[in-house]
Amino acid sequence: MSSSNHKGGASRDHDFATRLGHVGRDPAAHGGTVNTPVYRASTFVWPDTASLDVQRELAKDPAYRGIMYGRLGNPTTVAFEDAVAELEGGFRGLIMPSGLAAIVGAVLSVAKAGEHILVTDNVYPSARNVFLNTLTRYGIATTFFDPLDVDNLALRIRKNTRLVYLEAPGSDTFEVQDVPRIAEVAHAHGALVLFDNTWATPYFFKPFEHGVDISLHAATKYLVGHSDAMLGLIVTRREIYPDVRSTVRSLGYIAGPDDAYLALRGLRTLGVRLDRHERSAIEVAEWLSRHDAVLGVRHPALEHHPGHAVWKRDFTGSSGLFSFELPATSPQVLNTFLDHLQLFAMGASWGGYESLVKLPHATRTFQPLDPKRQIIRLHVGLESVADLIGDLDHALGAFADARARQ
Ligand SMILES: *Cc1c(COP(=O)(O)O)cnc(C)c1O
Repeated sequence: MSSSNHKGGASRDHDFATRLGHVGRDPAAHGGTVNTPVYRASTFVWPDTASLDVQRELAKDPAYRGIMYGRLGNPTTVAFEDAVAELEGGFRGLIMPSGLAAIVGAVLSVAKAGEHILVTDNVYPSARNVFLNTLTRYGIATTFFDPLDVDNLALRIRKNTRLVYLEAPGSDTFEVQDVPRIAEVAHAHGALVLFDNTWATPYFFKPFEHGVDISLHAATKYLVGHSDAMLGLIVTRREIYPDVRSTVRSLGYIAGPDDAYLALRGLRTLGVRLDRHERSAIEVAEWLSRHDAVLGVRHPALEHHPGHAVWKRDFTGSSGLFSFELPATSPQVLNTFLDHLQLFAMGASWGGYESLVKLPHATRTFQPLDPKRQIIRLHVGLESVADLIGDLDHALGAFADARARQ
C-alpha cells in the first residue's frame, strides 16, 4: 500500500514527523477517506476461477501479501505493518495480538529445538519467564548476558547460539546496550540480533541502521498510545521475512482490524506525544535527582546513567518511562508514598497519555539489585509537568514523614 504515489503522500526524503502523518494510508484506494478504514473480514471472495487462479499463483511467493483470508491479514492490518516497517527502515512488519506474542513469535521463527538464545539481563520480565519456563520445554535454551559488558558477550556465545536478544534501555533498570558492537559480535558468530524497540519507538531509535535483524514492539505502549488496545508488531530484514511470516501466521497469530486502526491513529501523534513525554520525563527525573529522599534516578538521558554515552550516540531522544530509587523500608511506609500520589495511578503497562507508577519485580543474574534500595518505575504522561512534580513532592513528603516516625 504505497503512500508516495498520490497527492498528499510523503516520501522517504521528508522529515520523520511528516512521514508519521502519511505512512500506511492511501486515500485513493479507500474511497478518498483520509484514514485507512477498519476492514472487518474473515472472508474475501473472488468473482471467477480465473481471478482466483491468478491470486493462487501469486501467493506461492512467500513474500506475497495479497489478502486471501482474515487470519493472514486485511487492508487495515497491512497498512499498520507497512507504516511501522517503513518508519523503522525494515522490510515488512507482521502484526501480532500483543507485545509478548511478538516476542514469542519472533523467537520461535528463528530458533529451534537444540539451539540457544542469549538474552540481555535487563529483558522485559514476562519475556524472561517465557524463555525460562516455556521455551525450555521445547528444547530452546536461554542464558543471559550483562547488558553493559560486551567484551564478555563473545565468551557466552555458543556454537548453537541462534539469536542474541536485546532490549535497550532494558526494563526497570534502563541500562543501554551497545547495539552495533553486540551486532558485530553476534553476526561474526552466525547469530541473528533481535531488538525490542518498545521504549524508543522508531521515533527515537532506528534498529536496522544499527545492525538489528528483527525488531519488535509492544504496540500496546506508545504506538497505540492511549491505553485502549493490546497489540504487537514484528519488523524484519528482507531475507528473514518469509520465515518469520510463515511461522507466525501458521501458528495462528493475527490481530484485529479495530486495534490496527487504533495503532495507525496513535502513530499520527507519536512525534508530538513523545516530544512532550521526553521533555516532562527529563524534568521530573532531574527534579527527583535533587530530592533529599531519593537515592538515585535511572534515566538514559542523565549523564551518570549506565550506557548514557551509547544512548547519546545511537538514540535521538528518550521517552517517558524511567525509574528512581527510595531507601528500602517497610511496606507500610512505602505504601504511604504510593497512596499519597493522586496523578500517578498504580498500573501495569505504560505508553498512554496518563502517568503511572509501578514497583517492578526485577530479577538479575548480573549486577544484583541492592536490597537497600526500592526501585520505583514512573511513566510520565502528558499532564502538566508542574502538577506531576507537585504530586510527587506531596507523596515524597508523606513518605519522609512516615519514615521518620517509624
Ligand atoms: C509491555 C512490554 C512488552 C509486552 O507487551 P504486551 O503488549 O503487554 O504483551 C514487551 N516488551 C516491553 C519492553 C514491554 O514493556
